Amino acid sequence: MTVPATAAARRLLPRTARGRTVLGWGSALAVGLAALTGGDIRTVTQRSRWKHAVCRESYGSLKSVLIAPRSFFSTITFTKTSNQPPMSITPPQPAPVWNHSADDILRLTKETIAQDREHLDKIGALSASDCNFNSVFVPLASSETSFDSILEPLSFYQNVSPSKELRDASNEAEVLARDYGVEQSMRLDVFQAKVNAEKNIKASGEWEKLSAEDQRLVEKMVLDGTRAGLALPDKERTELTALKKELSQACLEFSKNFNEENGVVSFTEEELKGVPKDVISGYKKRTEDSKELYDVTFKTPDIFPIFKFAENPETRKRAQEAHEARLAINVPLLDKALELRRKIAKLLGYATWADYITEVKMIKSAKGANDFLDDLESKLRPVGLKEREILLAMKEAEHKEKNIPFDGEFYLWDYRYYDRKYIEKTLDLDDSLVKEYFPVSVVVPTILEIYQNLLGVRFEEIKDSSTWHTDVQHFAVWAKDAKDASGFIGYCYLDLFPRGTSSPYFSVWYNFGILNNFQESKYSHAAVWPLLAGYDKADGARSYPLTAMVANLAKPTPDKPALMRHDDVVTFFHEMGHVFHGLLSKTKYSRFHGTSVARDFVEAPSQMLENWCWEPKVLEKMSSHYETKKPLSSDLIEKIIKSRYVNVGLFYLRQLFFAKFDIKVHTDQESDDYTSLWNSLREKISLVKADKPAPGQASFGHITGGYDAGYYGYTYSLVFAADMYATVFKADPLDPSRGAKYAQAILRPGGSREELDSLKDFLGRPPNNEAFIKELFGTVPGANL
Ligand SMILES: [Zn+2]
Repeated sequence: MTVPATAAARRLLPRTARGRTVLGWGSALAVGLAALTGGDIRTVTQRSRWKHAVCRESYGSLKSVLIAPRSFFSTITFTKTSNQPPMSITPPQPAPVWNHSADDILRLTKETIAQDREHLDKIGALSASDCNFNSVFVPLASSETSFDSILEPLSFYQNVSPSKELRDASNEAEVLARDYGVEQSMRLDVFQAKVNAEKNIKASGEWEKLSAEDQRLVEKMVLDGTRAGLALPDKERTELTALKKELSQACLEFSKNFNEENGVVSFTEEELKGVPKDVISGYKKRTEDSKELYDVTFKTPDIFPIFKFAENPETRKRAQEAHEARLAINVPLLDKALELRRKIAKLLGYATWADYITEVKMIKSAKGANDFLDDLESKLRPVGLKEREILLAMKEAEHKEKNIPFDGEFYLWDYRYYDRKYIEKTLDLDDSLVKEYFPVSVVVPTILEIYQNLLGVRFEEIKDSSTWHTDVQHFAVWAKDAKDASGFIGYCYLDLFPRGTSSPYFSVWYNFGILNNFQESKYSHAAVWPLLAGYDKADGARSYPLTAMVANLAKPTPDKPALMRHDDVVTFFHEMGHVFHGLLSKTKYSRFHGTSVARDFVEAPSQMLENWCWEPKVLEKMSSHYETKKPLSSDLIEKIIKSRYVNVGLFYLRQLFFAKFDIKVHTDQESDDYTSLWNSLREKISLVKADKPAPGQASFGHITGGYDAGYYGYTYSLVFAADMYATVFKADPLDPSRGAKYAQAILRPGGSREELDSLKDFLGRPPNNEAFIKELFGTVPGANL
């Protein structure tokens, strides 16, 4: 999820995203994606494409689920994974202690900030001739390492602590750190010291003696400053600051309107034919001119059932058009934000805003993003056309049967309706039956076992250690064959279950729907926090990483144990991929550790690992019916696998439409009519027609929500995921030698080298989109492509 502001990415964007150092469904992308997709969770079939949205949907409402008494969870054992005796070696680094008081959190935060400021003052005061690698870059690296290693765990409390006082303090700490981050990223004296040091390093011949990672440190640190505008003359810098303020104001207003939107579209009961009764009963009913009307809000649970189920095409059309136009108020705000970005990019010396944004991504330039999207579009078009043909034939048949005129066109308001009908017609997959084969108590240890074997590691649970909650499990992670302390890898926390209560009044609260009042607050989706990075200390010793996964896995019901949907299994597998990225990375500097890779690459490793959950032999291994103890039948396995790619051509073309619109508006030199662009691009790329142009771009929250010129990243990382899987793992996904190669080439280097170099190392050639396309092509029914 995820797209995270990893430690490094956060630095590049100042420290404004502190506390969002999460990988999972908490990120801007995920939230935005849900906004766009409307969290449109259809069946098990859609998950691989927007898995995060599923997490959000599943865990969104604590009120509607039954929470297990804590004792239930203690029955889950993680020791199935190792038949070896427990490790008797002591980790070379003590485990952290989670015993801060609210006062501690704030005091430590303030002290750390003061200390950092003091360090930077010293560096900033160096004379030009005294600036070199050891006097500037080494202390800067060490300063940011100690800052993060104290602040990350402190700002983590707000997501997991049962104490409101601690959560509030943690939140306050994050605000302090964020504000300080802005101050710190704008320090001219420190930037000047970096520039002087780089100059001296290069003039003295020291540069050639530096390792590749040292050189990368220098380049990235200087780049942080130039991107912030610190290389500009005073006048331009002042202008830049004013423009940035204005931009952030425009973006803020855009999202405020988004959150405050409260429009409705009204229908009669007759017009709502096909929409499930329980959905209709949730609509507000009123009488107008003696006619009964239902007011349907634009919130997903209200409006999406109309797109998907309303039989009358006129109803779907009216709902869709109103939905598209619901945030017309944002049109001028978006135009303004884009105009300000053009000015900022120009001031900073970039051809376009997209070039500025992509400079620090794997894709590197706006041209790179455009080429990627064009190529993919041309390859996906035949798949999408074939799917549209099939859906259109369904539409024609239905119109004929119901005696509705048919004009041969496939409209925007037909897409979700016929997509849903097609899935129902072709897939006979019962999500609740599949669930019965995935008890939490089997799936979680099996997935851990798979990872341990694949990556050659061993989890040793540390009982009775200090954690933030008694449900949390704490592990020391070792190399499988560790003989002494040198085999230590790091620590891992798994906080997997909703906060429970063992009170005898539990079921009473539940039945009265007042359970929410008794919940201890916890982050409600699934995500991974890389709490401590690994790095080399000044004395050459190693500082080891620590990662924490926070999730809300399934809960038991009165008559069944905790069962996971296949969706949830994939999510867990995905998030564990981030955990191992954080554990198995080994870099010299903390800023390059683990998931601190480019934002358009960070999801690729975990997206690749999702493939395991679609492999028959793995599905068999991790399933066990909660009553019969039998694994999934081959028939069910086949259905699950078949469900993965239904109508994906049209789905990805729609993704490409968003991505291409995003890049186009951020590469235009001058403003354009973006309502008209939104509509023409959609028709051309997504292959759906609309009647009259509506300002849909005004509800495209990514553009103002921190994902500008970045929407392509979601598909981009999937392409690498598919390539890595097909090229290396497909033949034998559980083979430890392939796992070792993956750990070495992809996980270990983290962001210490170009992601493209890691991929080349792993694949033995530059990556390409053939595997991704092949996956999709192979699954189009009746398509001879
Ligand atoms: Zn993720």
